[in-house]
Amino acid sequence: MNTPRIIDGKAAAREVLAAVKHEVEMLCAEGLQPCLAVVLVGNDPASRVYVRNKVERCAEVGICSIEHLLPADIDQATVLALIADLNADPRVNGILVQMPLPKQIDEAAVIQAIDPRKDVDGFHRENVGALSLGQPALYPCTPSGCMYLLNQVLGDLSGKHAVVVGRSNIVGKPMAALLLQANCTVTVLHSRSVDAPRLCREADIVIAAVGRPQLINADWLKEGAVVIDVGINRIAEADRTRLVGDVDFASASQKAAAITPVPGGVGPMTIAFLLQNTVRALRQQLSVPGAHHAL
Ligand code: NAD
Repeated sequence: MNTPRIIDGKAAAREVLAAVKHEVEMLCAEGLQPCLAVVLVGNDPASRVYVRNKVERCAEVGICSIEHLLPADIDQATVLALIADLNADPRVNGILVQMPLPKQIDEAAVIQAIDPRKDVDGFHRENVGALSLGQPALYPCTPSGCMYLLNQVLGDLSGKHAVVVGRSNIVGKPMAALLLQANCTVTVLHSRSVDAPRLCREADIVIAAVGRPQLINADWLKEGAVVIDVGINRIAEADRTRLVGDVDFASASQKAAAITPVPGGVGPMTIAFLLQNTVRALRQQLSVPGAHHAL
């Protein structure tokens, strides 16, 4: 019977957060407390939980956070005006707009309105472009967290064949770019791929970011693959609901050498890297005179 290593995302996130906390303490000693502005539009319960978690983690590592809670029927011009204010505010180092936004708001326009130096989600085209050129920038948090876990399990990734299942702008595409930067051979599978399980069986590393509960099972894997499950899906069972990933954990465990659980795998890493990006943003701004209140 195969017994895979269960990759502990909570423990890894604690390591990253401890390092962030240490860096924040050093910055605070110089009078430079990092500050994250979080914008939440409407009352979506899941988004409220995400925002609350981010604010709580900020407090734990000593990052100041400012919440902007806007009504669901707000118009686009008002959201863009708030972003402009936050861009101009020298006390604010990072800006996070919680997605999804209500229908009347153009998400792409809001993302592109954020000053790329404060874009701690790494979604602005300037940061996306820098990532694809292999230049330093603010990189998206979830793929950065996946890379941290992969490096923990495998060390050097050079020459590994990585298959990314999903091509979204927030996970699949930046994930592929980071794996390429780490010298992997990268295949990206998506909804139009033909015979995805066969292609996936070639992989040393599988990243599942599909948004389909338990799609990827043992049939998609070769023996010894390392499996990172980004998916977060709530499924209904007899008398309750349960969170599952895009990987069928029980089935995949028959072949994987190492696998992330859901919950407790990639999820905690995303917030940890959001806070790391906030500190990185501050440091980047310090190199630009006048960009921070303490200069
Ligand atoms: P998305 O819906 O934007 O993209 C899904 C991708 O999967 C698409 O590119 C599509 O082409 C591909 N796809 C769909 N069906 C497929 C199939 N049968 N075979 C191969 N590819 C297929 O999703 P997303 O925003 O990238 O999120 C993916 C999952 O990750 C979701 O479950 C989401 O909740 C989760 N997520 C988790 C975190 C975290 O912090 N852990 C962060 C972001 C997203």
